[in-house]
Amino acid sequence: SKIKEGLQKTKESMMSKVDAVLNSFTKIDEDFLEELEETLIMSDVGVSTASDICEKLRAKIKETGATDPQEVKGLLKEIISDMLTEEEPFHMDTQPSIIFVIGVNGAGKTTTIGKMAANFKSQGKKVLVAAADTFRAAAIDQLEVWTQRSGVDLVKHQEGADPAAVVFDSIEAAKARHADVLLIDTAGRLHNKKNLMDELHKMFRIVSQKAEGCDVEVLLVLDATTGQNAVSQAELFKEAADITGIVLTKLDGTAKGGIVIAIKNHLGLPVRFVGVGEKIDDLQPFVPQDFVEALFE
Ligand code: GDP
Repeated sequence: SKIKEGLQKTKESMMSKVDAVLNSFTKIDEDFLEELEETLIMSDVGVSTASDICEKLRAKIKETGATDPQEVKGLLKEIISDMLTEEEPFHMDTQPSIIFVIGVNGAGKTTTIGKMAANFKSQGKKVLVAAADTFRAAAIDQLEVWTQRSGVDLVKHQEGADPAAVVFDSIEAAKARHADVLLIDTAGRLHNKKNLMDELHKMFRIVSQKAEGCDVEVLLVLDATTGQNAVSQAELFKEAADITGIVLTKLDGTAKGGIVIAIKNHLGLPVRFVGVGEKIDDLQPFVPQDFVEALFE
């Protein structure tokens, strides 16, 4: 599957390191557990999550009476699987349902919106896209290319226009045109953090008010290749909007897929989709069980 392919590098790197630890110890002791924890940290699972995993592992070892390091692999799989347990699903029951997409420039917002628009369209949904990144003309153009390719409508203003006004108009338009789903693209200039967060907050307030009663999903797009940095970014963005889910892009090009576990365990946010390539069908719904199977098979 695409998830399996996308996770290839993560699997090779993370699991071969884990296997190396399992193979270099003959019994389960403190040294073994410490080395395992270090390995998890090196695999972008993050310090606090690696520590949580090892704490749970200690309990499981006690519980099962395991003595052989090889038994630990199965226990690890159980622990990670439990950590990623399914969340409340993505609700898109209202007309319109709104997906507000945030994240730093380059993370893959526009591409993700293009892929989602095509996906929803192919499911027979009426899709509207809003270009609320008004700072770069190129961003509006890029979104236009994606929407034309998949044949969905775009709401846009001039470059430099107030992004909150684009959000406002797009919600009006989505209601008037009976769209099933409205996808809102936003700016992500991180060099002006305060402005960006204020502006996102303003847009988020408009979404919350104007789309009252609608299903609203706030998706933060994170670039998996940035590893633990992505987790720090999420902490920052959490202050501007009530994030309800994560899209993790560029999983195909990285060995840092371990951050999926940190995102869920450390941030408490579900990964909704993963990007496994640049093409239109390279966005996959994230199924925790598939992720765990792909890593441990
Ligand atoms: P934005 O600034 O957040 O809107 O980011 P873009 O959507 O413009 O994406 C930045 C770059 O990342 C582009 O070159 C995309 O083709 C690439 N990209 C986005 N998602 C993925 C993915 O899942 N895999 C790969 N390999 N590249 C991706």
